Amino acid sequence: MAFKKLCNILTVSLLVASSPLLADQTGDAKFAIAIHGGAGTIEKSRMTPEKERAYRAKLEEAINAGYAVLEKGGASLDAVVTAINILEDSPLFNAGKGAVFTYDGTHELDASIMDGRNRQAGAVAGVKRIANPINLARMVMEDSPFVMLSGAGAESFAESRGVPFVDNKHFDTEQRREQLKKAREKLDRENQQEKDYRAAVEALPVPFRMGTVGAVALDKQGNLAAGTSTGGMTAKRFGRIGDSPVIGAGTFADNRSCAVSATGHGEYFIRYNVAADICARVQYQGKSVGEAASEVIDDVLLPVGGTGGVIVLDTKGNIALTFNTKGMYRGSRTSSTPLSVAIFGDN
Ligand code: ASP
Repeated sequence: MAFKKLCNILTVSLLVASSPLLADQTGDAKFAIAIHGGAGTIEKSRMTPEKERAYRAKLEEAINAGYAVLEKGGASLDAVVTAINILEDSPLFNAGKGAVFTYDGTHELDASIMDGRNRQAGAVAGVKRIANPINLARMVMEDSPFVMLSGAGAESFAESRGVPFVDNKHFDTEQRREQLKKAREKLDRENQQEKDYRAAVEALPVPFRMGTVGAVALDKQGNLAAGTSTGGMTAKRFGRIGDSPVIGAGTFADNRSCAVSATGHGEYFIRYNVAADICARVQYQGKSVGEAASEVIDDVLLPVGGTGGVIVLDTKGNIALTFNTKGMYRGSRTSSTPLSVAIFGDN
């Protein structure tokens, strides 16, 4: 009951159209990259000019680094990992350094990657000591017979492949600690009233909950790739895993349709199989990436209270950067369109 009420509130209060800017660029690009750094209640009025500049600069750096890989003829998988590593290493985003805290004050990271040539995929969930989880996800794809590894097992796999560990404190930032404090205060209060953890989590303001980074790329060989990396949702508990490491939910790539990386309230993205649904609409219904993304994000997710966004790319270099929240850190560059970065609904 409380949950349904909340969904209605969300539906009304989050009526922010998908960004018209940057959406559905066309131009038969030979290679292209798009990235995101999370969606949520991101408003100009809440951000200092310095902070905004820092975000834009880091997004540009990540796009340009990925673009350089593609320009030299490198693989889309390499471009995706290159861009994501820059965002993981930045404390600004909820992935790698700067990841959100769990309810217990630690960090548990999730990531996944997919190769559009052959639907090979790799994912890790709940890792605590891996500085760049997207790299480990790629190792799972390329160097193991598995698709998804979790927790201590994923770290044993990392150890067996010589991946260095970092202390969990490596991911700490003051800002995220502050968010956890506020989230916990609210959660504990709500819990007492409602004795319902789910409703309490739902009641947290979006900025306390979310963020994630991701990239999609098309290389000169015509191959798509997608990757996503996240700290998950603030104050998550009980080994909670979101959509980011779930192939088909948070990440998907298939040369026959499109590449997608998602960000948002993971439980909805899992239940609605968001990334795969968008690509299915492109493949089977002949929808453009912009139409397919908007149908799923605006028409399917929003009415049930699912907030977030996606970046989508097809083999012609068409891009959709679509979200139903106030903003999404995002940007793109293609062989036929210049570097472009945006944060808010309108720029
Ligand atoms: N999708 C992520 C999760 O649910 C969080 C986010 O993208 O904001 O873990």
